[in-house]
Order: sequence, then C-alpha cells, then structure tokens
Amino acid sequence: MTSALVAVDIGHDRYAAVTDPATAFWALVDKSRLAEGRAQVTAAYQDKAAAFAHELQALRFGLKPSGVYLNPTERCNLDCTYCYLPATKRSGGSHMPLHTLIASLAKLRDYFASVMPGRRPRAIFHGAEPLMNRQAVFAAIEAFADDFAFGVQTNGTALDDEAVTFLTARSVSIGLSLDGPTAAITDGTRRTWGGKSVHATVLSAMDKLRGYGSWSVITTCTSENLSHLTSMVELFHEREVPTCMLNTVRCTLPGARGVKPTDVDMAGAFVAALDRSHALYRESGRKLVIANFANILIAILAPTARRLMCDISPCGGGRAFFALAADGGLYPCSEFIGLPEFRGGDLLTGSVEAALDSPGFRRVTGRDVDRFAPCDACEIRHFCGSPCPAEAHEMNGAMERPGAFCDFYRKQVAYAFRVIADGKADDYLWEGWDVGTETTFELCSVP
Ligand code: SF4
Ligand code: SF4
Repeated sequence: MTSALVAVDIGHDRYAAVTDPATAFWALVDKSRLAEGRAQVTAAYQDKAAAFAHELQALRFGLKPSGVYLNPTERCNLDCTYCYLPATKRSGGSHMPLHTLIASLAKLRDYFASVMPGRRPRAIFHGAEPLMNRQAVFAAIEAFADDFAFGVQTNGTALDDEAVTFLTARSVSIGLSLDGPTAAITDGTRRTWGGKSVHATVLSAMDKLRGYGSWSVITTCTSENLSHLTSMVELFHEREVPTCMLNTVRCTLPGARGVKPTDVDMAGAFVAALDRSHALYRESGRKLVIANFANILIAILAPTARRLMCDISPCGGGRAFFALAADGGLYPCSEFIGLPEFRGGDLLTGSVEAALDSPGFRRVTGRDVDRFAPCDACEIRHFCGSPCPAEAHEMNGAMERPGAFCDFYRKQVAYAFRVIADGKADDYLWEGWDVGTETTFELCSVP
C-alpha cells in the first residue's frame, strides 16, 4: 500500500515539510518543486513505512513505567493562581508521614525492579511544595539513594544552604519555578498565602545552584508574564541556568483559565524567546536549553529519544510514569490529583499493577490522538500529542477533545521545522542528545 505524504507549510522561505501523519515520517522539500519532491520522497519512503509505523506503535503503546512523581505533602506555602491542586488541600492539607513514605518507596522499588530490572527509575518529589515535608523527603532520599534517581521540583523558598548541600551532594536534580524577570511580574501569579513576594528568594536559590550540573527553572507562561518572556530568557542565561521550561499554563482548573494567554500571543512570545536564546548562544557560546521546545525538536528528529511525555499520544501519564498523592492514592499524573474519578486505588493497600489497569488510568492511557476530531486529521498530531487530557476533560468537557493551545502547538512545530531546515537544530538541544540514537532514514539532495 502506498502511503500518502501530506505537505505542511512551515513558514520557511524555501522549504515545506511533507509528512506521513500516521507514522510521523517527514522530509523537507523545495517549495518551488513541491509535487516533484513529494513524489521522490514518497518513492524512497515506501519500503520504510512499515518499520516507522512499528517504531511509533511501540513508543505509543509499548512502554512500561520508568518513573514516579511523589507528592510528600498536600501543603504549599504559596497560592499560585494556576495551581492544579485544590486550594483547601494546599492551605490546610496533610503531610505524608515518614513511615508511609518509606513503605511507599519500598513498594515502588519492588515494582520497578519487576518492570525495569537493573535500571534505576526516576522519582521526582514535587507539588504541592515537597520541602514543606523536608525531613521526610530527605530521610527517604538517604534511605533509597541506591534505588532511585531522585529529583525535587520546588518553589525554591525553602532551598537554604543546608538543603542545597544535601541535595547536590547526592546528585539530586533540582527544579525551581520563577514566572517573571522582576518581582512585580512574578507576583502576578506566584506569591504566599499572605500575598508576599517570593521573587528575591527564588533568585537567591538560583544563585546557590549556579555551577551545579543538574538544575532547571520552569516559567509558566500566562497572560501576566507573556510580554516578558524574552527578558526571562535573558535572566536565565545571565544566571547560567542550564535548562529551563517555558510551559503553557495548564488550564485544568478555573484559576488557570483566568490567566490563559491567546494562542497567537503565546506563539509570538515563545518564538521571540527562542530567537533570543539562540542569539545569546551565538554571542556567548553557552546554551540555555528550553527543554519543552527541545523535546519537540527531538520528537521530530528522533522520536524515541524524547525526554518529556506531554507531546506524545497517549501522553506519559499512567504509562511512562504515574503519580503518588500525599494521601497514598495513585493517579496517572499529578495533573489529575484534584480529580477523584481518575484515582487508581491506594499504593499500600493495592498495587501499581491494579492502578495501571483501573478505569481512571485507562481513560488517560486510552486517549489516542488518532481517534478523535479534529486531531485525527491533523498532519502534525504525532509531534504535538494533543496535550493535555486533564485539561481537555476539565476545560472542554471530554477526554476526546483537544486541550487549550492547539494553534500554538501548530506554530511551535512549524518553528521546529524551520530550525531544522536552517541546519540549526543542534543549537537548541542538549549536548550529546543524540548519543545512542541511530539514523534509520536519510535522503539528501532532493532537488
Ligand atoms: S499531558 Fe497532562 S496528563 Fe499527560 S503527562 Fe502531560 S501534564 Fe500529565
Ligand atoms: S491539538 Fe491541534 S495541533 Fe495538536 S494534534 Fe490536535 S489538531 Fe493537531
């Protein structure tokens, strides 16, 4: 059977992309000779189509979990506008007791040993604010240092010298959050329950981490900070942040929807920030990798090498990883922790296997971009993945719908293709990103 390649306008002066939407195969062809170029690529591609389809199928449906997001507390000292966790829990919820955390990690260790023997799974402590339960978190990291590759995603307000020394000495990856280049902007979405600014505290935490190899900063892009995204990139580069994420706000809960930017604004600011990061790299020789964009590039260049799992369908929630809530419940992803119908049972009284097979998990892992409109007809659907199921369910009323930023995702993929067309992709990627990858198809000089 001959696969039909679809042309995609990527906004490039010279090139268009042609892609087989079903397999995520693509090539760039000269726009002035599109029909001829497409015919040549189609002829060369045919005997590879089945192998590409098989590879994508394995990536989309054949993975076993290799990581867990751990919520060691329901509490947070901040009241961020867009948080996906219910405010009552964040302000007055409970910590997971140390003995429960230890028992949970022991059970998780045994589970991962059964599905990925000989490899260390990733275990990321994160939201609410994990360092609110710092004693338990640090004791758990000590107790299971040989069993997990640990990370901590923190708002940075409790990251004092002692915490930095403890975490860096154990090679724990550390993620911070900062939403603005100045306090006035950051305070628009991230502040304490009493309304106090944490901007200066986070900058101070960033100073402590300068030179450490494994840290990053997330900026959540909202209507409050979008016009400052380029300044954020400058601030991160100046402070030698190795990796950042410029994430669209997840519109799962109503508070987030109140600060949702338009797709057009999001795309314009994001592209400007990417351009600025590239200019800074060319000026200084030092990269600030924007990880969520780098992941899109990798999804195009080497699909199985991607590191983040929001832009593949089904997404990583409930299949590449899962989340443990502070009350012991298992969820496909932390984004679902405020939504009880997606709870897959309790870790300690149940099992990971039972959770993965539960109705709530199956709804997430069964959300297939090939099976609902308009994504099923989208030519870039396997570079986009139609995130996010939690957002689609809560914001748009059903899993089988797109989430919040369809037009932005299209523009992001077009930009990624332009970067590839200009031969600049490596400038946006981690050093050594392609170690272990192999070239499965190469067709040069399409006239
Ligand atoms: S798309 Fe949503 S549910 Fe899936 S991994 Fe990303 S945040 Fe989690
Ligand atoms: S969300 Fe939009 S860009 Fe993404 S797969 Fe669906 S239609 Fe395509």
